[in-house]
Amino acid sequence: MNRIVGYFKSLLLLELFAGLRVTWGYLWAPKYTMRYPLEKFPQSPRFRGLHALRRYANGEERCIACKLCEAVCPALAITIDSEPREDGSRRTTRYDIDLFKCIYCGFCEESCPVDSIVETHIHEYHFENRGENIMTKQKLLAIGDRFESEVAERKAADAAYR
Ligand code: SF4
Ligand code: SF4
Repeated sequence: MNRIVGYFKSLLLLELFAGLRVTWGYLWAPKYTMRYPLEKFPQSPRFRGLHALRRYANGEERCIACKLCEAVCPALAITIDSEPREDGSRRTTRYDIDLFKCIYCGFCEESCPVDSIVETHIHEYHFENRGENIMTKQKLLAIGDRFESEVAERKAADAAYR
């Protein structure tokens, strides 16, 4: 009996029409595809994108070369050299992040006692030449200078949950 019912079902293309009914329904339903880059999903203040080094409002580098970020980095992506200044304070002479090694875990940001190294909202970037994957101190400070207001805003938005 089941075989006969199945035979008539296939003869009348019932399963095909059942499938087309679903297609027809989705044709008029709201679309879930984002038209990137014209449309973008909202981003969390905790989003972990391209790194930056921050300064204080007076222009002084925040980083005190404690090397906690270098020690905590599970990918060994951070390399820091440091030496004391004439005034006795310690500052980095080299701060490199290898973005090919980085896994964007955020541990460096979490470990920093002075909110110096941060991961910004920037996620649209690319490299064109060999070696550009190394983010030097100068590059990181330049990103920090450029996006300081956005970084501060996101830190403030997330402060209550940290
Ligand atoms: S985000 Fe993680 S992997 Fe990348 S530099 Fe920071 S600690 Fe290392
Ligand atoms: S970025 Fe922060 S954690 Fe890393 S060396 Fe500088 S002060 Fe220390």
